[in-house]
Amino acid sequence: MTGDAILRAEGITCRFGRFTALRDVSASFPRGALTAVIGPNGAGKSTFFNILSGSIPPTEGRVVYEGRDLARTPQHRYARLGIAKSFQITTVFPSLSVAECVRVACQALVSRYDIWRPRARLTALDDEAAALLDTVGLWDKRARPAGLLAHGEQRALEIAMALAARPRLLLLDEPTAGMSPEETRAMMQLILRLARERTVVLVEHKMKLVMGISDRVLVLHHGEVLAEGTPADIRGDATVRRVYLGQ
Ligand code: ADP
Ligand code: MG
Repeated sequence: MTGDAILRAEGITCRFGRFTALRDVSASFPRGALTAVIGPNGAGKSTFFNILSGSIPPTEGRVVYEGRDLARTPQHRYARLGIAKSFQITTVFPSLSVAECVRVACQALVSRYDIWRPRARLTALDDEAAALLDTVGLWDKRARPAGLLAHGEQRALEIAMALAARPRLLLLDEPTAGMSPEETRAMMQLILRLARERTVVLVEHKMKLVMGISDRVLVLHHGEVLAEGTPADIRGDATVRRVYLGQ
């Protein structure tokens, strides 16, 4: 894939005490592409995700988003920069309805000046929330308390809430964890649809899941980049196959 990178990881090393979880990991995430980060358990995927999304600082190296070094960017600024991640601690509000959760997320992104704007602006918020519910397939469940949704639906709701920020870059860490095969299929379809309109980085343990939908695949193993390329490249890579054998 040609084109520029919206996000770049440059020489990322991450140490926890004496343990090195990531060693000199560099990667480019092309704008508009769906890039999957895969690897066996313990490969360092979540650590890499947490660094890309600003949850933890790298020990060495830097993350560059739209040409900007993110080291000096506090977490709360990420949404305004166009970066959203799913499955952060602020998950769904269990006692709010599904629609209210998304509306709150939409409202959180309205600047404080917009509060003084006319009622039309608030109606627009409702419309926006409705469109997001439709996107993730939760329109029919909009009146339900979020806490009563099935696991897969809660994760879809979290994605709708993440989308409220209208991110240009969406970061997802194992969105199908704990899902049934049916929920997993639905989530993969949703991710594929979302990736048509924005850049997506999808961290996923199960290689098979991402091969059919990704533009690029980055394979981590023991905290290092083992391979990088198109799904076809990765499928044909003997080392990758050896690492995944028996998984
Ligand atoms: P993955 O998501 O690919 O399964 P992780 O990034 O969660 O892998 O973990 C990579 C390695 O780093 C594992 O060996 C894990 O035990 C270790 N690790 C992750 N987070 C910490 C931490 N906060 N402190 C110490 N070790 C950690
Ligand atoms: Mg993980």
